[in-house]
Amino acid sequence: MEEIEVRTQLRGDRVLHLQLLDGQARVLFLDTTEMAQRCADLHNASPVCTAALGRLMTGTAMLGAMLKGENESVSVTIRGGGPMGSLVAVANGTDVKACADDYSVQLPLQANGHLDVGGAIGHSGRMTVVKDLGLREPYIGQCELVSGELGIDFANYFTVSEQQPSLVALGTLVSGDAVLKAGGLLIQPLPGCAEETIDQLELRSPMFADISRELAAAPMDELVNGWFRGMKPELLEERSLRWHCDCSRERMERALISIGRKDLQEIIDDDRGAELQCHFCGAAYSFTTDELKALAASAEDR
Ligand code: ZN
Repeated sequence: MEEIEVRTQLRGDRVLHLQLLDGQARVLFLDTTEMAQRCADLHNASPVCTAALGRLMTGTAMLGAMLKGENESVSVTIRGGGPMGSLVAVANGTDVKACADDYSVQLPLQANGHLDVGGAIGHSGRMTVVKDLGLREPYIGQCELVSGELGIDFANYFTVSEQQPSLVALGTLVSGDAVLKAGGLLIQPLPGCAEETIDQLELRSPMFADISRELAAAPMDELVNGWFRGMKPELLEERSLRWHCDCSRERMERALISIGRKDLQEIIDDDRGAELQCHFCGAAYSFTTDELKALAASAEDR
């Protein structure tokens, strides 16, 4: 049987949404190199922190790619007890951003030559996924961290919290300050998936285990056609992704209002104004005492 090969159009950061064997499994394949570089540059991140944030953004972008509505978003918080502290990434269908408590962590390489992402994040703790689907209450899913390397943690999240068995590979290939490649692959068997298809995917999984090196070696469509030969890979959608922070003065105003009238009044009494900095992009927003007084008028008593 002659197979139609997958051909992609876009360049740069993007997510490919594919199906295998007429819908027996779905595949998300992401290149997140540019956003990982942008994040590293903004935060002046060390190589291992760059790798950790790159992997987290890629996994979060997978969740973002599965959102249906335009105004929906998802945030993933990792608290693993490691020297990076907490890590947070936020994504919608196209935009991704991330931050951490500490970007300066340096650790020896692991025995296999890989950066010690698990050491930087920590090996035990929690992964929290909050999906804002535009409803009154957000969806919140939580699970224990399995390793802190993140690929296996995202797989565990999908399997345990969303009851969706998943194969996840996440990778960021870093050299000094440069992100050579970052990306990830998600494979999910769908209802009606044959046992032999699952066996085939497991058999082939070593091929995409080191996903950033794979991405560095060949174009995405070539990789897909090779990995899934004989499994009828079909490209359903191709979408650009980007680093983007949606912080704004209005958001910062809301944050100030949310601390309550009493705390705001203390800042007003200090009469030095307030300067807020966005954790994700570093943008600074300053407020004068008069502006704070106006905000206090709309704040609630706590
Ligand atoms: Zn920002």
